[in-house]
Amino acid sequence: MQGKHITIVGAGLGGLATALRLSSKGYRITIIEKHHQAGGRLNRLQQDGFSFDIGPSFFSMSYEFDELFQYCGIDNPLHFNELNPVYSVYFSNRSKPYYIHKDLSKLAEEFKEIEPNFESKAKTYLKQAASIFHDTENKVVKRNFNNLLHYFLTLSTVPVKHAPLMFRSMWSELDKHFESEDVKIIFSLVAFFLGATPFNTPAVYSLLNYTELQHDGYWNVKGGMYDIVTKITDILKSRGVEFVYNTEIISFQETKDNKVQLVDRKGKVWVSDKYVVNSDAASFRGSVLGRKKFSETKLDKLHWTLAPFTIYLGVKGKLDNIHHHNYFLGDNFKQYADQIFTTSISPDKPYYYVNVSSKSNPDCAPDGCENIFILCPVPDLRYKSNWDDKEQLADTIINDLSSRIGFDLNKNTLTRTIYTPVEWRDMFNLYKGSGLGLAHDMKQIGAFRPANKDEQFKNLYYVGASTTPGTGLPIVVISSKLVTERVLKDDGII
Ligand SMILES: Cc1cc2nc3c(=O)[nH]c(=O)nc-3n(C[C@H](O)[C@H](O)[C@H](O)COP(=O)(O)OP(=O)(O)OC[C@H]3O[C@@H](n4cnc5c(N)ncnc54)[C@H](O)[C@@H]3O)c2cc1C
Repeated sequence: MQGKHITIVGAGLGGLATALRLSSKGYRITIIEKHHQAGGRLNRLQQDGFSFDIGPSFFSMSYEFDELFQYCGIDNPLHFNELNPVYSVYFSNRSKPYYIHKDLSKLAEEFKEIEPNFESKAKTYLKQAASIFHDTENKVVKRNFNNLLHYFLTLSTVPVKHAPLMFRSMWSELDKHFESEDVKIIFSLVAFFLGATPFNTPAVYSLLNYTELQHDGYWNVKGGMYDIVTKITDILKSRGVEFVYNTEIISFQETKDNKVQLVDRKGKVWVSDKYVVNSDAASFRGSVLGRKKFSETKLDKLHWTLAPFTIYLGVKGKLDNIHHHNYFLGDNFKQYADQIFTTSISPDKPYYYVNVSSKSNPDCAPDGCENIFILCPVPDLRYKSNWDDKEQLADTIINDLSSRIGFDLNKNTLTRTIYTPVEWRDMFNLYKGSGLGLAHDMKQIGAFRPANKDEQFKNLYYVGASTTPGTGLPIVVISSKLVTERVLKDDGII
């Protein structure tokens, strides 16, 4: 079966990692990408001498990248930095930030005035989170399921003690372990990495607190996150993989034996033995394949992750009062989380994340300057379709940040770019601008998530954030392994 041709639709991390694995097994690969360069959400903006990673700024489970390169017989060419402290959190009603350390005794020091006995409480909480992680990582997360029955049979092998955590929220679980509102809020921020709030995220995802604080921690890449894309594309090019940019697949034609051929906007048919689609696995089935189950009305009823509102600021001067990864929060967390993501009004006191990557990668900014990435989670385009107020929202955030770090960002700005959910949708076909794709509630994971093998066409597969197992860089790398296994199995190679 060696030498078969596979076309991959999309050069996001999911598509690139799949190309790496499949090319290692002897397949010939073509990658078709609608954007002008590779990376998808893991992309780069170069502007006025500054370089910005436009989306992901760190990741957990770094060993998944090691596994990817090992699978392909290559030494991992990426150099990772561990984040320590993992991040800092600024509350509007508190003069100093909290520094979140992996070392629990140091973390207890941060919380000594607000949470008595923090260390032993955290140990109990994290022990439970660790056991959920290790009882599901290999059994459930890194598995392909052929149907619902297969999924339920697999779930039945997970210790039953975890079941109640599927049905209560992360917030209610934190409430059982900690007293301080600030501690609960800080531990609940991981829910936003799944693109949701802790009030609608199941408590099983407390396993993410274990991954950030005890397991592998958080990492970024020396040279910038886009180095992941540069290094993988270089290897793929050296293997003869063909990249076709500025080309979007918009339709298909059915061939004999329940097979498909994909067609681009100009009407060109991309003939291939198989296709792996890295476009959103739910919306592609609706907009390109015309499946009724994935019509706009049906997709709108699904649970989508929050949309990003992102600002890329290049400033003159050095920011001494801020670290690499920072959260800026207000004093009405629950009310904010409950209301803001389903309204059409921009927040007047936004909650946001700030990353200054020039602090660890000085090449990202000219001498004496910093590059600032601001991410404010906002409603997707179902709730707020008009973003004409984007400059005002950016001003509100930048003014708030200036006063909280004691640095006049406006006066020192050399470059400023804003992406609203409209730009995010248009750049990468993200459904209604949803940043992380389909959410991860119990009805949208495992065999309930759009499968990585098409229901109808036997030469069509999917990889990436909205198919299994889910979103986030290491999870998408796992997705590339799962889809590769499907392809190899169907071709009788494994
Ligand atoms: C603002 C932001 C911050 C984030 N921060 C983090 C973080 O810190 N850590 C982390 O782990 N994760 C983070 N994520 C999530 C992470 O970026 C995603 O989970 C991951 O990059 C998804 O990769 P993917 O390959 O599935 O999809 P994508 O990156 O979306 O790639 C899909 C590609 O397919 C192309 N495409 C789509 N449709 C078509 C078509 N019809 N024809 C041709 N090409 C097409 C798109 O242009 C795109 O290049 C963040 C996401 C966002 C938006």
